[in-house]
Amino acid sequence: THRGRTALVTGANKGIGLEIARGLGALGFTVGVGARDADRGATAVATLEADGLDVFLVPLDVADDASVAAAADLLERRGGGLDVLVNNAGITGSMPQEPTVVHLDTLRTVLETNVFGVIRTTNAMLPMLRRSTAARIVNVSSGVGSLARQSAAATDGAAGPVAAAYSPSKTYLNAVMLQYVRELAGTGILVNAACPGYVATDLNGFAGHRTTEQGAATPIRLATLPDDGPTGGFFEDAGVVPW
Ligand code: NDP
Repeated sequence: THRGRTALVTGANKGIGLEIARGLGALGFTVGVGARDADRGATAVATLEADGLDVFLVPLDVADDASVAAAADLLERRGGGLDVLVNNAGITGSMPQEPTVVHLDTLRTVLETNVFGVIRTTNAMLPMLRRSTAARIVNVSSGVGSLARQSAAATDGAAGPVAAAYSPSKTYLNAVMLQYVRELAGTGILVNAACPGYVATDLNGFAGHRTTEQGAATPIRLATLPDDGPTGGFFEDAGVVPW
């Protein structure tokens, strides 16, 4: 059991993040439910509490320095520190995203949340993670950020959206993860990326074919790796994602 350990899930008020929070709570974690909108977050907290889980609201907009700093303060003041950080919050950004017509503001907005938001949040939480004896960081990435898959799609004309903001944001996220892995070598902090698969959520207008429970499975596995588990990997249910 993970009782006595604390996890923070960003963007946990709905979708895959809510399900990751539920799953970690069921495993015994005390779970900080990150939500940029306090009302939506409070509703999610009430739902999880009704399931008997030990959860608390963490107001957290990953795109906002002051909000992230306040969230770290809240976790410090609760006294439990932090053992697991799941960087789940993410956006697709507005359309169009064909590279010839995408608005640069769309690129900026998507990077601000999907990449800079992860760096901002991770760095704010790292002092607590460094004190943990079982620290894990999980970045919820996407297979569309795999250069191997994108280049295969480009050469075989595969179907699927052309998304010059969203897809490269996840590539960038994966690249930054490797920088963290190198800097944190020897600390015992395991950092990995997860692709949840194509999950029916607001993100895709519920077009995905997988459930949020299925999407949460790999992130939860990476959040609860044993001490000798991998670091710097990119995983989906079926195994390693070709980068
Ligand atoms: P949802 O849109 O259902 O949920 C996204 C969550 O992120 C919401 O809680 C949203 O909050 C939150 N969020 C967005 N921006 C911010 C911000 N600036 N600060 C804090 N929270 C924020 O999407 P999913 O559950 O599908 O997505 C979760 C993750 O999974 C994302 O990183 C996504 O890229 C990734 N993913 C999803 C796939 C899918 O098929 N669904 C496939 C591959 C990866 P709010 O409710 O306030 O908007």
